This record gives sequence, structure tokens and C-alpha cells, in this order.
Amino acid sequence: MAFPDASDLDPCPFNPFLMWIDELRTLRKEKLIGREVLFFSEIDSTNREARDRAEKEAIEGTVVIADSQSRGKGRLGRSWESPSGANLYLSIILRPRISLPAAAQITLLAGIAAARALSGVSGLECRIKWPNDIFLRGRKLAGILTEMEGKGSKVRFIILGIGVNVNWRREDFPVGLRETATSLCAETGKEISRLAVAAGFLHEMEKEYTSFLREGFSARLREEWSRLSWVLGKRVTLSLPEGTISGQALGLDPEGALLVLDGGGKTHRFIAGEVSLRMEDSNFEREASECFW
Ligand code: ADP
Repeated sequence: MAFPDASDLDPCPFNPFLMWIDELRTLRKEKLIGREVLFFSEIDSTNREARDRAEKEAIEGTVVIADSQSRGKGRLGRSWESPSGANLYLSIILRPRISLPAAAQITLLAGIAAARALSGVSGLECRIKWPNDIFLRGRKLAGILTEMEGKGSKVRFIILGIGVNVNWRREDFPVGLRETATSLCAETGKEISRLAVAAGFLHEMEKEYTSFLREGFSARLREEWSRLSWVLGKRVTLSLPEGTISGQALGLDPEGALLVLDGGGKTHRFIAGEVSLRMEDSNFEREASECFW
């Protein structure tokens, strides 16, 4: 049996349960993001693989997808649970000609793309928790991990990784994540196609990324981010290596930094980096949303 779409680069033998990868390749063939899709049934980390490929001059828009990750990465050395057969783990190689400080803006536009795509496939309101997570009904549905390699003051490449909990059943979540994580299937009660999630995200990402290349982090992107944000107007606590700051999240400045007004009336400016954000009222959010939906 021949599988004409299976690329020579594909290190994984054809897997009949994953025909959606070939469909995704066909859908993205003429586009920038996804013109090359590499698939692994098992990998340590799609971000690690994409980074190695980027070092070897893989083209911009190359996408690495895995069915499972043994060392899925979160921010700041944390890990991302990545069981097989259920979820989406995907990394994209980007080569924007931008300066190093602008790289954090890529995480913001990936958040827009992810929130839109996940709302689209689920019909539910998915929101961005600054800087890098997508929340649904007060629980973490997806995480974005942006890693960058620079040369001088410029970006050489960016690896944009996303993990989405798609068909992960609540009873299969590790105990430590049962209260804090969710999946599309757990919230909708339906199995959701991983092809639809991947295709939706790559489509939205292409739109936002090409608009970013044309116009930079424009007022339109900032407004769209604010519309989809789960944190604006809320009380938040930010943890940094040097301590914590609590206050009200006001919005993004033109560079994409989060502005937070503390109790003393002072406005602080945060770029993702070493910062973690906790919402003061996230439990109320779920109770309220459960009543609403
Ligand atoms: P933070 O939310 O603090 O920025 P990260 O974005 O780095 O953290 O994500 C890693 C954290 O997310 C882990 O420490 C764990 O608490 C949680 N987590 C790990 N895997 C998953 C998953 N598949 N779904 C939801 N949450 C997860």
C-alpha cells in the first residue's frame, strides 16, 4: 500500500490512526505555516525537535507534531503532561526579522490565534491568561511555550510550541491537574477532531503572524488580545524572582507589556520572561461560568 503524502523526512512509519496528519499536510501545502509538517508518534519534546531542525536551517513555517511527548516542556523548567492518543502537541519554526525584545509579542499573537481556534472548534469561550495559557471555564486548556534564539540584537529563530488538551478524559488526568486543567472533550462532552484543532490553530496563526510581519504589534492586535483576555480588569498577583506584586491588570502597552496598577497607585510593567501570574478570583470564575453555561 502506498502513502503518497508521507514525506521522506517523516521519521515515523505510517500510522493508520493518524491519517489526519496527511490531511493537514494537504490543507497547509500552499501556505507559510505548515508547508512542511513533520510527525512523530513519540518524542521527548516537539520544541526540542523544532529547535534542532531550525539550527539545521529548516524552513520557516515548518511544523513538528507528536502524538505523545515524554518530556513536554512548560515555562521556567516546568513540564507539560503529554499522553498519547488524545491531545495536540505542536511546534512551529518562525524566522521573523525582529529585534529581541519584540519576540515576546509572538506569544501574545499565538494566544489570540489559539483562543480563536479553540473557541471556533468548541463553540465555547476560550480566553487568554497572560502571558501564555488558554483557559476555558476557569481551567487550563492549552499552554504556549515560545523559545527564542538570537544573533546580536536580532532574532535568529523562534520556536512556538502549543499543547492543547483535546480528547483527554477527566478520569485520565493526573490527580494534581484534576482541579486546574480541562480538555475540549471534558467541557463539550464530545470527541473533537485533532485535525480541526491543528488546522484551526495554524490557519489563525498564519493570519496573525502575517499581519504582525506587515504591521508589527499593531493597535488591532492589541485590541484583539484585550477582547480575548481573561485577566484584564481582574486582580492578579505576579511572582518574579525578586518578589510578588498584586494589583489590577489594566491592559497591554504598545510593546505588549502587561500593565498592573498596585494598591499604592503605581503602575508596573511586565514582560513575560520570569514572571508567573495568579488570578485572585479564578475559582469564582468557574462557579460563575458553570451557572452560566
Ligand atoms: P504557568 O501556568 O505557571 O505559566 P506553564 O505555562 O509553564 O505554567 O505550564 C506548566 C504547568 O501547567 C505545570 O506546572 C502544570 O501545573 C500545568 N500542566 C502541565 N501539563 C498540563 C496539561 N496537559 N494541561 C493543563 N495543565 C498542565
